[in-house]
Amino acid sequence: MTELTLRGVHKRFGTVDAVKAVDLNVTDGEFVVLVGPSGCGKSTLLRMIAGLEEISGGDIMLDGRSLNAVAPRDRDMAMVFQDYALYPHMTVSENLGFSLKMRDLPADQIYDKVRDVAQMLELEPYLHRKPRALSGGQRQRVALGRALIRDPKVFLFDEPLSNLDAKLRVGMRMEIRKLQAALGTTSIYVTHDQTEAMTMADRIVVLRLGEVQQIGSPNEIYQRPVNSFVATFIGSPPMSLIPATISSDGGGAVLDFGEGHRLPLRAGRVETTRRAGINRVDVGLRSEHISLAGDAADAGTFVSDVVMVEDHGADSMAVVRLGGREVMARVRPGSVRVGETSRRFTVDLNAIHLFHPETGMRLV
Ligand code: ATP
Repeated sequence: MTELTLRGVHKRFGTVDAVKAVDLNVTDGEFVVLVGPSGCGKSTLLRMIAGLEEISGGDIMLDGRSLNAVAPRDRDMAMVFQDYALYPHMTVSENLGFSLKMRDLPADQIYDKVRDVAQMLELEPYLHRKPRALSGGQRQRVALGRALIRDPKVFLFDEPLSNLDAKLRVGMRMEIRKLQAALGTTSIYVTHDQTEAMTMADRIVVLRLGEVQQIGSPNEIYQRPVNSFVATFIGSPPMSLIPATISSDGGGAVLDFGEGHRLPLRAGRVETTRRAGINRVDVGLRSEHISLAGDAADAGTFVSDVVMVEDHGADSMAVVRLGGREVMARVRPGSVRVGETSRRFTVDLNAIHLFHPETGMRLV
């Protein structure tokens, strides 16, 4: 059983706090993805776990043992880098077997392991080639193979797919996940790509400016983002955020977006905003919760021009205006046209997210 624990892990470069007191517990066989925009500290955090970067404070523990003073090569972790980091003068076979040779494993055992890993990654035809004679995808498989062959306690991945084209990336992310699941090796994977995080992770750690924003399953993070940063970072297309004032409309409370656009606000949500002592909120809406409505002016509908339409095959994204802000609506292909005026859209009122207008924290 492998358990990796981070307690208050901190990194300061001069005056920059690149990673601020991160607590994280990664359980045996778990695939955890660190995700966030450029500069959020995800690579630094991974490199501290690998021992490639000294920590400024806190503890990193593997199976209850502190790693703080343990050299990278003694941590029983294997890292896969974005730029593959292959030895250019060695063949694929030598690259794969290098770590075993360093451990003085007998040649016949190295041969068997290289063959097994090459088979697993479909690299057998290339075993005698040098890295320069391989495609980007093949090089990345060799890099992956080098990590697998060591049979480490933990895999660390630093944006391993960033140099591959979009189609290859989709294929490789499935492959990595399948291999990892088959081997059951605890893994930490860094990416700036929220789709990669959503599709690969058991749990996602969202980072911003060195600080953990939220840790949870892809579903939890998508359904209940803790703040407006996570809400707009995770999901494709991003969640729309629209400022609104809470006012009353005879029958009950409404979200007033301006320009005559109003949506009813359920009683429980009104109570939450009242408790928070605010009458303005940022309203979060995902595209799947805005759709085309009939012509009746029912509650929960609004009228807008169609600013733009993007066809995705199975469905289309329409850019429409709610209170002067552009929002994305998911519609059937062919059901709206760019430039159309006065189309009516409906909002799933149960799926509205509300965020504090100043702190960005989730209210509902
Ligand atoms: P990216 O996706 O662009 O690689 P990242 O989320 O991995 O970004 P890091 O590379 O971990 O971010 O950097 C986090 C912060 O620490 C950034 O502000 C960066 O400029 C700073 N930083 C990283 N390495 C060093 C260093 N060796 N010296 C000084 N500052 C550094």
